Amino acid sequence: MCLPASAAWQAGVARVDITPTEPIWLAGYGARTHPSEGVRQHIFAKALALQDDQGNLTVLVSSDLLGFPREVADPIAARAQKQFGLPRERLLLNSSHTHSAPVIGDMLRPAYPFGDAELAVIKRYTHWLEDQVVEMIGRSLHDLKPAELSFEQGLAGVAVNRRRVGHREYPGPVDQDVPVLAVRGADGSLRAIVFGYACHNTVLNDYQVSGDWAGYAQAALEKTHPASMAMFIQDCGADANPLPRHSVDLAQGYGETIAAAAEEVLKGKMRPLHGPLGAVFARVDIPFQTPPSRQELQSRLSGTDVYARRNAQLMLHILDRDGKLPDHYPYPIEVWQFGKDLTFIALGGEVVVDYSLRFKRQYGVDNVWVAGYSNDVFAYIPSLRVLREGGYEGGGAMLAYGQPAPFAWAVEEIIAEKVDDVVKRLSERTSDY
Ligand SMILES: [Zn+2]
Repeated sequence: MCLPASAAWQAGVARVDITPTEPIWLAGYGARTHPSEGVRQHIFAKALALQDDQGNLTVLVSSDLLGFPREVADPIAARAQKQFGLPRERLLLNSSHTHSAPVIGDMLRPAYPFGDAELAVIKRYTHWLEDQVVEMIGRSLHDLKPAELSFEQGLAGVAVNRRRVGHREYPGPVDQDVPVLAVRGADGSLRAIVFGYACHNTVLNDYQVSGDWAGYAQAALEKTHPASMAMFIQDCGADANPLPRHSVDLAQGYGETIAAAAEEVLKGKMRPLHGPLGAVFARVDIPFQTPPSRQELQSRLSGTDVYARRNAQLMLHILDRDGKLPDHYPYPIEVWQFGKDLTFIALGGEVVVDYSLRFKRQYGVDNVWVAGYSNDVFAYIPSLRVLREGGYEGGGAMLAYGQPAPFAWAVEEIIAEKVDDVVKRLSERTSDY
């Protein structure tokens, strides 16, 4: 049966200003030497609640943060389940990966030189943030009103494959799609603009809080559409940078470019999205390569690489506590299926572009959206290509993230197989409607 164009949806929106009110360590760069000095731009978490014609409630959360690590995401999800009856597969926590937002949880602990005083500020902010996000999810659910959903994609040429810096011979794939999900009220007015792009938010690297280019993109869209809320979703931008970088003008310019691409989509013909909204959340164990021995870790303590040194300290602590190092990581995969119209695949970690290109090729370039930085950000997720090329994402970054070793060569195939399993389960359900 084919349902009429989506009058059956209900949608609610909510936002919360998550700008820190005291100096706090900013996340993403190991080179910063002190906490924040001020606020260039306020940062936000935003929620879009959707109810389909079968009464399923689903909430998408975006945030101007480096990422939600599991020790922050899991308690938020547990509280949303307890307080609002929201099943785990119907809450999705994505972050823009701005490098000008506070450190939260234990994320990237070996990357930073801060001490106990700074850690106390981070813990206080993290607890406050969890409360704010849960409360916001509740408000979005109380805001449900009849809505129409539509989807289309644009293109923007901001993302550059950053692995080509110093390795111009690399193939350097990028995903320059700008997927846009528009939520309109029963009267046709725009209530929410959800838009994605696959590129690091690393234009700015000073001591001012901001959403980087994605913050400016959201602000530009909300300026044009003051009655609506713009939500940015970070896609598989782990190996993409906006280049060149490091000025406020560039951050603003890239933001306005991405906003203009989304604007063009909004002005054009968009395809209606039908329900029901199917959802699956799964975890798959991704194995690490053989970790270093205790002896090797001890020898790293006197090495010159500061990340290797701090990582070795952390690993020796885990060895003393648990008797062994973890040999795998429970990797989160969440997939939403909007009727037969759109498959939204949300992956944990800093996901390199190959995953996005692969899943779009596999399931359809016109109706598949692949996000990274969702539900847990704990490492880069290299593809086989990136592991073979070597370098930061599959190698050195694992030290800064506090992981015991690089991922095994099979990481891409293990994730792809699990995604396929989940997508097939959802397609079987959808074919019944
Ligand atoms: Zn990153």
